[in-house]
Amino acid sequence: MDEGDRGNISADRFQKEALARQLNRSAQGESLTECEDCGEPIPERRRKAVPGCVRCVTCETKFERKSW
Ligand SMILES: [Zn+2]
Repeated sequence: MDEGDRGNISADRFQKEALARQLNRSAQGESLTECEDCGEPIPERRRKAVPGCVRCVTCETKFERKSW
């Protein structure tokens, strides 16, 4: 019983990690200078802090809330 529960949890986590890795890989190519969602310029500080970022802080926050 415990084994099964643990299995489900790790499978779920594995999926999330795989998805995150996929997203990272596609984003790592280039940091956009403008937000993919709203078109606002992404500050250079943010682009350096988050390599491969494609959204401004506002949209990234919204995006992350949506995906949870
Ligand atoms: Zn934006």
